[in-house]
Amino acid sequence: MGTYAVTGRASGMGRAVADQLRAAGHTVIGVDLDDADVQADLSVPRARREAAAAVLSAAGERLDGAVLAAGLGPVRGRERAIAQVNYFGVVDLLREWRPALAAAGNAKVVVFSSNSTTTTPGVPRRFVRALLAEDADRALRGVRLFGKAAAPIVYGGSKLALSRWVRRNAVLPEWSGAGIRLNALAPGAVLTPLLEDQLASPAAKAVASFPVPIGGYGDPSRLADWAVFMLSDAADFLCGSVIFVDGGSDAYFRADAW
Ligand code: NAD
Repeated sequence: MGTYAVTGRASGMGRAVADQLRAAGHTVIGVDLDDADVQADLSVPRARREAAAAVLSAAGERLDGAVLAAGLGPVRGRERAIAQVNYFGVVDLLREWRPALAAAGNAKVVVFSSNSTTTTPGVPRRFVRALLAEDADRALRGVRLFGKAAAPIVYGGSKLALSRWVRRNAVLPEWSGAGIRLNALAPGAVLTPLLEDQLASPAAKAVASFPVPIGGYGDPSRLADWAVFMLSDAADFLCGSVIFVDGGSDAYFRADAW
């Protein structure tokens, strides 16, 4: 049985992952704003450092895997927090946890990306570049012109930067060479509190009209099945992949993108 860190443990897909891992007999160290072993606001750099250290201490400096599911949806007015949680709330923790993941010898990491990476039109390249350069202020300055429409751009852009970070790092000796498999899961519209909030917001009409070819919304526990699979030995040969599980939305928009 292994020891796993799971962020976003209190709700939605993170909660479903943590529950499945615990039910299988693993030790889970959950991180979230509330209702978690380590309570932290991942939008704040110092809180991220403290949360990362608290997890390492609880895990005895050895992690068999990590699932980074904490995230904020495209909520108008929360652009800074979206960038901080969705990008830095993943990469800052993973950098701190890398030695503990390496200590396990065969660790697996699943980062929650999103199909918004490929289905959000108009994300400026400079936004993604600035996040990858770790400059949140520059990134946010670059999307001011979107005004009240900036939140979906920041959401899609933060997940795009995150996916690129995963792919760039997954193949480096520090990660793959240390036996750590770093991959991303890109869900589509999954019925969790994040999506429910969007469906109750002023953007509801646009959110509800987003095409999901198979119809309906994803089930959080089915997405958790994918994350748990990506933590298993089946993922030994999976490295730097972004797995879309989205009812066909990405294929609908980009059938010929390959
Ligand atoms: P959710 O809202 O049910 O859960 C997200 C969790 O993140 C919550 O428990 C919340 O408290 C936590 N969180 C938010 N801000 C935080 C902060 N500042 N510090 C610490 N924790 C914080 O959402 P979900 O749908 O289960 O989302 C899980 C992941 O999947 C997210 O990264 C989300 O962006 C991504 N995603 C969701 C969908 C969807 O349709 N639901 C689609 C694509 C990607």
